[in-house]
Amino acid sequence: MKIFKFGGASVKDADTIKNVVKVLKNEGFKNTLIVISAMGKMTNAFEKIVDAYYNNSEDLATNINSVRNFHITIIENLFEDKKQPILFELELLFGQLSGFLAINKSANYNYIYDQVVGYGELLSTKIISSYLNTIGILTKWIDVRDFIKTDVSYRNATVNWQETKVNIQILDSQNLYITQGFLGADSKGKTTTLGREGSDYTAAIFAHCLGAESVTIWKDVDGVLNADPRYFKETVLLNQISYNEAIEMAFYGASVIHPKTLKPLENKNIPLYVRSFYNLKNKGTTVGKVPNLLPETPCFILKNKQILVSITALDFSFMVEHNLSDIFKILHNYKLKVNLIQNSALSFSVCLEDKFNNFEAFLSQIVSKYNVTFVSNVALYTIRHANQKAIDLVEKKGTVLLKQSTKGTVQLIMQ
Ligand code: ADP
Ligand code: ASP
Ligand code: MG
Repeated sequence: MKIFKFGGASVKDADTIKNVVKVLKNEGFKNTLIVISAMGKMTNAFEKIVDAYYNNSEDLATNINSVRNFHITIIENLFEDKKQPILFELELLFGQLSGFLAINKSANYNYIYDQVVGYGELLSTKIISSYLNTIGILTKWIDVRDFIKTDVSYRNATVNWQETKVNIQILDSQNLYITQGFLGADSKGKTTTLGREGSDYTAAIFAHCLGAESVTIWKDVDGVLNADPRYFKETVLLNQISYNEAIEMAFYGASVIHPKTLKPLENKNIPLYVRSFYNLKNKGTTVGKVPNLLPETPCFILKNKQILVSITALDFSFMVEHNLSDIFKILHNYKLKVNLIQNSALSFSVCLEDKFNNFEAFLSQIVSKYNVTFVSNVALYTIRHANQKAIDLVEKKGTVLLKQSTKGTVQLIMQ
């Protein structure tokens, strides 16, 4: 089987959804399973619903309405007639959502988040599956929560591979399946999510469990570029990337492929193609058992909204094992992601990402034991296969607060 993944950008409006049809017709869709994300920026819009609900804000109804209208507009633009059944399905889903919000008793933000945000993918797959059916491409919509089973770490769930494999293996290659990216279910059937941008990972999970021949991620860019085109003027298309190189890039924060995607594919030697859904003639990028990187060129990875924290002991003692392990324990407790560390005799510097809004709480705990200074909103640049020209290019972007270099990889924290 082949796995196709369409992200939010490739299903952001009626035109792009019609373009999905072009892709399918051009590539063929026999023995295919399609993974689809929420449309456009709908996951962000659902996050607003979660916040409004959680904070008892009067914006709740408005937020739900705007998400509902967004989908209705797409349906209006997509379906000429025969839109009643899908409008009915849409109302059913919004009815379920309102029902959940009305009866929910849990105060667990992450749990509520997953129950609500998951509707983005349920809506997009229902609409697209139904549209494809009406134009004669027969699809089978499946609820990914019946297949991908996870633990209860809401918003960042861990896959139970054993159960998931058993579930997925019942899929046959006769159908054109459509399913949701990003979602899973815990043992009680409650929706879980695999982390933002997690639909790539979903595609890899299916590919791994089915022993698929390939995964293709369809994008609004030509493939994996050597830098994020939103921040770098000149970029180069990477034709081939080895699994290891791609894992390294994802580890340092290259957002074009979700970091968890690669291991399940490498493990079964399944190639990953990243291709443009506009230029179907282009081959894009192949990630697989290929030479490390072609063309060999410096690659830039940018992570914004970082916090650079410097920590020293209150009694001026050395920063050694016991303080460091203490600090890491606290960082872990507050789910602060560590993207770079640097240690000297008296000071420990760490570049953090505060995904879950815990930095204030972390700070208030740690200041009782250490002197802490920090600079927020800094950028972390990682250059793989760095050369002097590449370093100069980054250094021109601001003031260097910290620089670290290991085996061809240079990292700079810039303000
Ligand atoms: P999707 O909807 O498929 O998840 P995203 O919008 O999340 O797609 O990601 C596609 C965008 O990622 C591109 O439009 C591009 O701006 C950005 N991007 C960041 N880094 C890279 C890179 N190294 N190569 C290609 N695109 C990149
Ligand atoms: N819709 C989810 C998100 O925006 C998952 C994904 O797009 O991959 O994070
Ligand atoms: Mg995305």
